[in-house]
Amino acid sequence: MENVIIIGTGCAGWTAAIYTARANLNPLVFAGEQPGGLLTTTSEVENFPGFPEGVDGFELMTRMQKQAEKFGARTQFKIIESIEKTEEGHFEVQVRGGDLLQAKTVIVATGASPRLLGLENEQDYYGKAGVTTCATCDGAFYRDVPVVVVGGGDSAAEEAIFLTRFASKVYLVHRRDELRASKIMADRAVNHEKIEMIWNTALTEYVPGENNRMKAVKTQNLVTGEEGELEVEGVFIAIGHIPNSQFLGDLIDRDENGYILRKPGFAVTKTEGLYAAGDVADHVYRQAITAAGQGCAAAIEAERFLTEQE
Ligand code: NAP
Repeated sequence: MENVIIIGTGCAGWTAAIYTARANLNPLVFAGEQPGGLLTTTSEVENFPGFPEGVDGFELMTRMQKQAEKFGARTQFKIIESIEKTEEGHFEVQVRGGDLLQAKTVIVATGASPRLLGLENEQDYYGKAGVTTCATCDGAFYRDVPVVVVGGGDSAAEEAIFLTRFASKVYLVHRRDELRASKIMADRAVNHEKIEMIWNTALTEYVPGENNRMKAVKTQNLVTGEEGELEVEGVFIAIGHIPNSQFLGDLIDRDENGYILRKPGFAVTKTEGLYAAGDVADHVYRQAITAAGQGCAAAIEAERFLTEQE
């Protein structure tokens, strides 16, 4: 019987691992589909406290892993398929293609996966060569150059507005002729002098440039069929995220977008002993440091629960 199983190895998962390991709970950590989480898809992280020169996203996650393992966390590079709670009150955790494990508590830190456009060679450019899904992370790398944001929701509007601080011009490409974003955000984006709206349009092709930048993107008007090209160095895709909460079944409540609902202000879910941290439960902040904070909160909750049980 494990004390704690932690699922996910982004900032939330590793922070939960550091805390539970230091509390002598000997956590078992599952790295999941994307070991290291979303930060490994970005290049330099400039806003994580304690790194005034910035830190490579992959390196930051490797350091967190080392720190957790130094205190006794065990890591398995496997995927959890499902979890059930038994009548005795513990969890049965099914590893894909493998064991059925028993645990007293589970911390879910499986994150949310950004939706991508599915264009040719997108994975080669994503996070490395001009295609990103995080303006907060990567916006500052696009000073005084044109960029394009794709999407029509609050995220797209927010990212476009944020990017006006850096970019010389921001194109906002949306597949319809009206934004889905809340009116206040939509108005701000549409009326911003640095933002040019490109309605009824889809991106059809990336045109890579030099120095890990784009040169342009090809577009198509979805009403007229007219093809076009935008000269941009960065492409920010903001067409929503998919929280990785499906495998939890009825153990949790979700909001309408699939994010795990927690007791407000706490890391606890509706199921006793099951905690949630980071992007799988947070569509508001979605930052490395807030995910880490929530991982810490989940670990403290698990530790207190186990102490009470004893
Ligand atoms: P969202 O509201 O689901 O919007 C996704 C946008 O992407 C939609 O405009 C959609 O177009 C477009 N889209 C989806 N798939 C596409 C594809 N394959 N190609 C091109 N476009 C595509 O997602 P979100 O903006 O990330 O927001 C998620 C939730 O977080 C929302 O509830 C939002 O209000 C909230 N949020 C709030 C704030 C804030 O209040 N400050 C900031 C960010 C997010 P259609 O419109 O045609 O469907």
